[in-house]
Amino acid sequence: MALPSRLVLFKRKQTSPERLVGRELLRLYEIITDAEKQPNTCVYTSPEFCKQCPDCILYGYAIGNAGAEKSKVYVDSAFSVTRYEASHKAFSFNALYEHGTMTEEGKTRSSFGEQDHVVPQVFFPSIVTLRDATYEGFLYVFGNLLRTDHYGAQETRTGKVYNHLLAVVWANGEIFSNLRFTQAIYDVLIERKQYREREPLDPLQVHAAALGAYKGLIGEEPVVRVAEFIAPEVDELRKEVTQIYSDQDRTRELLAALNTTAQEYTKKYGAKKRGTYAPLILQTDTS
Ligand SMILES: [Zn+2]
Repeated sequence: MALPSRLVLFKRKQTSPERLVGRELLRLYEIITDAEKQPNTCVYTSPEFCKQCPDCILYGYAIGNAGAEKSKVYVDSAFSVTRYEASHKAFSFNALYEHGTMTEEGKTRSSFGEQDHVVPQVFFPSIVTLRDATYEGFLYVFGNLLRTDHYGAQETRTGKVYNHLLAVVWANGEIFSNLRFTQAIYDVLIERKQYREREPLDPLQVHAAALGAYKGLIGEEPVVRVAEFIAPEVDELRKEVTQIYSDQDRTRELLAALNTTAQEYTKKYGAKKRGTYAPLILQTDTS
């Protein structure tokens, strides 16, 4: 079994855009605000997290000695299905002086910048696990995943991605890692003679391989699966969630209910824990 080196999508790069997408929605519906000294002020920098809004409770915060709430959204770094060598291109560009010239005070600049660029249609299989899932919390995290289409540096055009939903599972424990999942998908593609590097992988074949890999791996996990939605059935679930977020009143209702549970949680549990898990199996690709 070949174990190739892979391109990594770092954990932080994955969760922060999803989190920011959610916070934007919370601000839009006035659950939180950036304005100073309001009852619902929550700013995305320590030490100004409010410690009680849905974002703080679900994604966690740390405020020096003043306490911390562990994130209930577990994400691991994701790895490309294709080998590192086939997943990126490094290209050089002339580092210009401020006025767009290559010379300044008669000296020609010799330094060149180099930037790593992920080639189109590279797949990063990824599992997002929500711990202590409540109904509203699940819909919120799920919505953030569906509405995030940009990872990586904000100012570049290279971070465009699409999250394909493969499965949603309710279980009483965490399941396999992203790396194990990715390797299993790669093995299935090799076995089916569908792995290639000269042109991008076929999305439908990767999708089928990912479902095959999932079914093989989940059977070996020592967890009880309470409920499981796998593609194509999971698409119904996705459509229902999409409908909620396409409707202003329903979104407002959901966020209000979510906010109430977050406030209750803050009162009851502070930084304590309970335990159910809802892994969402995603396949992110750069397209
Ligand atoms: Zn907050």
